[in-house]
Amino acid sequence: MNHSLSDRPLDSIFSPRSIAVIGASRRRDSIGFALLHNLVVNEFNGTIFPVNPHADVIHSLKTYPRVGDIPDPIDLAIVMVPRDAVLDVVGECIQHGVKGLVVITAGFAEVGPLGATLETQLGERVRGAGVRMIGPNCMGVVNTDESVQMEATFAPTPAQRGTIGFVSQSGALGVAILNAAADLGIGLTQFVSMGNKTDVSGNDLLEHWEEDDATRVICMYLESFGNPRHFTTIAKRVGRKKPILVVKSGRTAEGARAATSHTGAIAGTDVTVSTFLRQCGVLRANTIEELFDTARALDRCPLPAGDRVGILTNAGGPAIMATDACVNLGLRIADISEETRRELTSFLPAEASIANPVDMIASAGPAEYHRSLACLLTDPGVDMILAINVTPLLSHPTDVLDAIRQSASEGPDKPVLAVMMATEEFYDEVLGRRDQPPVYRFPESAARALSQLHRYASWRRRPTDVPTPVFTVNDERVTAILNQTQSGYLRGADAVRVLELYGVPVAAWSEVDDLSGLQSAAEELGYPVVVKAEAPALVHKSDVGAVKVDLRNPDDLVRAVEEIDASLSAADYRASSYLIQEMVSGGVETIYGISSYPQFGPLLMFGLGGRYVEVLRDVRFGVTPLEPAEAEAMVRSIRGFQLLEGVRGEPGADIDFLIEVLLRIAQLAQRHPQIQELDINPFLAAPTAAASKALDVRIRVGAPDRSSAPIDREV
Ligand code: ADP
Ligand code: MG
Repeated sequence: MNHSLSDRPLDSIFSPRSIAVIGASRRRDSIGFALLHNLVVNEFNGTIFPVNPHADVIHSLKTYPRVGDIPDPIDLAIVMVPRDAVLDVVGECIQHGVKGLVVITAGFAEVGPLGATLETQLGERVRGAGVRMIGPNCMGVVNTDESVQMEATFAPTPAQRGTIGFVSQSGALGVAILNAAADLGIGLTQFVSMGNKTDVSGNDLLEHWEEDDATRVICMYLESFGNPRHFTTIAKRVGRKKPILVVKSGRTAEGARAATSHTGAIAGTDVTVSTFLRQCGVLRANTIEELFDTARALDRCPLPAGDRVGILTNAGGPAIMATDACVNLGLRIADISEETRRELTSFLPAEASIANPVDMIASAGPAEYHRSLACLLTDPGVDMILAINVTPLLSHPTDVLDAIRQSASEGPDKPVLAVMMATEEFYDEVLGRRDQPPVYRFPESAARALSQLHRYASWRRRPTDVPTPVFTVNDERVTAILNQTQSGYLRGADAVRVLELYGVPVAAWSEVDDLSGLQSAAEELGYPVVVKAEAPALVHKSDVGAVKVDLRNPDDLVRAVEEIDASLSAADYRASSYLIQEMVSGGVETIYGISSYPQFGPLLMFGLGGRYVEVLRDVRFGVTPLEPAEAEAMVRSIRGFQLLEGVRGEPGADIDFLIEVLLRIAQLAQRHPQIQELDINPFLAAPTAAASKALDVRIRVGAPDRSSAPIDREV
């Protein structure tokens, strides 16, 4: 034995010196055989003790009837006995002093109430004894570290040594993941199939890999989040040290939600998942293939300083595809400098295209790749590079790839991804090499990897030292107002009051019962005015003609109220009261929203508002706690941001104030979880803070979701 257990909580599982394989079997078609076989043939560095009461020897190893019969200390026990025997066996393991457990056996919470009860008992027993357990219902664990070499799974493909830590929530997919990794020449540090996550969860693994220098990239296949809020804290911290990539399945399994707000209608559980992953700096991939494509780039490339891509090619078609893909993914095609152009012109043939993409034409060989890539790398306007090669007849793509590798290693430290449109033989030869730029078969997958690199790099650049402001507000009064309504929409006046208490300006208004009230309120406010009717169950007022704007005199006002009453009764509503507001003009209509999701808590929304929000869908989302940099990114990244900056001579909006309002809404959402939905639509974004104000607000309250309380430790 050449290593000792350190005191990291999961080391007994990942780096055991001895393993008991309980439920080892002589039957070749059983997992009890496959797992033991994998441990042996992959040369586990410690001692293996098979346990099986019906065999003396399995796989040439002395076999013990029970764990208790093993004379030596055991670090890790792998349990594969039938479900109903698991609790007893685990008890014996604890008795023997086992420190870590991997329970492969299935049939627990995933099959029904009885299994769930057993699983609860299992969890209690394990936690009570202070040992750590992976599973149950999992496929095992792998540690490729030379000093351990533990292949404790029943998967047919062993993992290669590398730099990626991988955790899969699905065992079956775990097998496929190990296969795909082998095919792509991707090496792993550790692999975990975590099964039902009764004890060890994704959060524990994040923390384990956080401290593991050999693991440079963390990859996760997840089906559910136990507690997204706790994940947020851990992922944000770990993500500062190394990238985290997630494939979260169940994208389309969107539960039907009866959302009546704009925010609720636009958002959805999957938006929430994406939002909170993005805000944690976690990269989301759609498929395992995409995940590995990105992981290879993150593993081997430095982070780009910006979003400008240089493209080098020996053929036009793939360069156009690459350009389209980059632009669609939000990257920019770099403007290459005059100096770079001069340099390229000096040695490339006259037919070459000295722009970006740089098309060296089909005659380009390794020397041209080497020199042209060096030019692009030194251009200060280029942040990252795609080097594309279509293999022409009679050339050796490996030489081209070597030239790319050589040049990339000499130049300034920028990401270089190679797109080699070559034969399978070529890929068989080069994929496993890790000392070269990551290689892709098609421009689109390389472009996607670049965009993920850029996304992660910009998240890493975000300042973390700007404290989230805490606004001084009277939360008791807000609570008192919110509590007046048990569940459902607040009265308009109450909703307005909540905003005012939170320092969000609202257009001057008053609420009255009838026409005479309206008339005196209008005199007080001064014409022009806006009148809106409130009615029980009426959500979108202008849809039924209950909003009349720009009323300039008492006559307008009378006519407006008549019209409102007529259209309301045509739509089977009756006005319960009227709101009268100052008429506000100018500015850009924006929307702020809150929509609360079970487990995830409040989702925040900001974007272009008005009547057509659902059509335009130009909104961005965020989760609480919302840091200032995150609020700023939300506001600045809407597609129509230029409207807020001011276009065609129009004055822009006070952006800082818009960000402040967003942070105030975030605080409101975080402190008052009984808010199920909130829409401020429109919020008029004007050139000054004084002129910016909410014109309409709706708040729906309900019982706060307890599952979002940040208490348990699962992912
Ligand atoms: P709803 O969203 O229930 O239909 P709103 O109160 O948002 O009703 O009013 C609909 C539209 O009327 C707003 O999007 C805005 O364009 C306009 N509007 C509402 N209040 C005012 C106001 N005080 N000044 C100017 N325009 C207003
Ligand atoms: Mg509105």
